[in-house]
Amino acid sequence: METSPAAGRLTARFIAGSTLEREVAVCQRLNADGYLATLDHLGESVTSLEEAEQSRDAYLAALEQIAKLQLQATVSVKLTQLGLDFSEDECRSNIECLVARARGMGGRVEVDMESSAYVDRTLALVRDLHSRYASVRAVMQAYLYRTEKDVAELCSRSIPIRLCKGAYSEGPGVAFPRKKDVDANYVRLMLALLDHGTNPAIATHDEKILGRAMAFIQERKIPPDRFEFQMLYGVRRDLQRRLVAAGYRLRLYVPYGNAWYPYFMRRLAERPANVLFLVRNLLKS
Ligand SMILES: Cc1cc2nc3c(=O)[nH]c(=O)nc-3n(C[C@H](O)[C@H](O)[C@H](O)COP(=O)(O)OP(=O)(O)OC[C@H]3O[C@@H](n4cnc5c(N)ncnc54)[C@H](O)[C@@H]3O)c2cc1C
Repeated sequence: METSPAAGRLTARFIAGSTLEREVAVCQRLNADGYLATLDHLGESVTSLEEAEQSRDAYLAALEQIAKLQLQATVSVKLTQLGLDFSEDECRSNIECLVARARGMGGRVEVDMESSAYVDRTLALVRDLHSRYASVRAVMQAYLYRTEKDVAELCSRSIPIRLCKGAYSEGPGVAFPRKKDVDANYVRLMLALLDHGTNPAIATHDEKILGRAMAFIQERKIPPDRFEFQMLYGVRRDLQRRLVAAGYRLRLYVPYGNAWYPYFMRRLAERPANVLFLVRNLLKS
């Protein structure tokens, strides 16, 4: 299914394409239109260390293109994709290779956050890499109870943070079960990050929360180069255009590659209307 030719037509709204070449073309277009980008080579379900090394090499190739073509882009990577489930040492060596390359070109690696079972190991690696190379950004999920403490700890080390709500299915033992509590926690953490975070990224499509952020930014006269907004490629394009037109920095998370299934299903699950969009495209094709 992932490699079927029909799949490209269905996933095109959220995924740039199956090749790096296609990804680079999309990023160049986005940069020309005033957006920053972060490149995500899809593939969180690697089944061996060999596949993890292939993922690392795919990211190295992406970093080479970013440097060669001077793209306004970072890369976003999941540690399971670099072998975390098989060997912590191999995973560390794979991610270190990417972060060292990013540092050499003045770029950055954004380490996506996966389900709660991975948070401690992900943060331990990010802290270590940040202390040696600086060129990393951590991701925090507002749905986890522990995140307030983690945000304070990362801020005390000046580690840049991308704040999102969280995309995995978590139990009430670790995460707020009610959306309204997740949203309230998001706003609390967002204001703290805008106030004293290092280069924070506010990653949401929630218009109400974005309005709150913009009011706070204006009230505190926070310079536009001290933070950025982030959104997913293909989600709320109207809002994306408005933010850029208003002069805000907006980075789009742009996935590419064949292993699109888990990413695509998370996007469908977030918004039932996307299923209608999918069915319409299925009928068309
Ligand atoms: C740049 C970026 C990076 C991310 N990285 C991670 C990560 O590392 N780990 C992680 O767990 N999660 C990550 N996420 C996903 C995030 O946790 C949420 O699942 C996702 O962003 C939806 O939450 P929301 O903040 O947009 O708010 P919601 O309350 O879910 O949505 C607000 C509004 O946004 C629109 N919207 C949201 N999602 C969609 C969609 N799929 N299709 C169409 N419209 C939609 C709708 O209009 C909706 O009403 C990331 C999100 C972004 C934007």
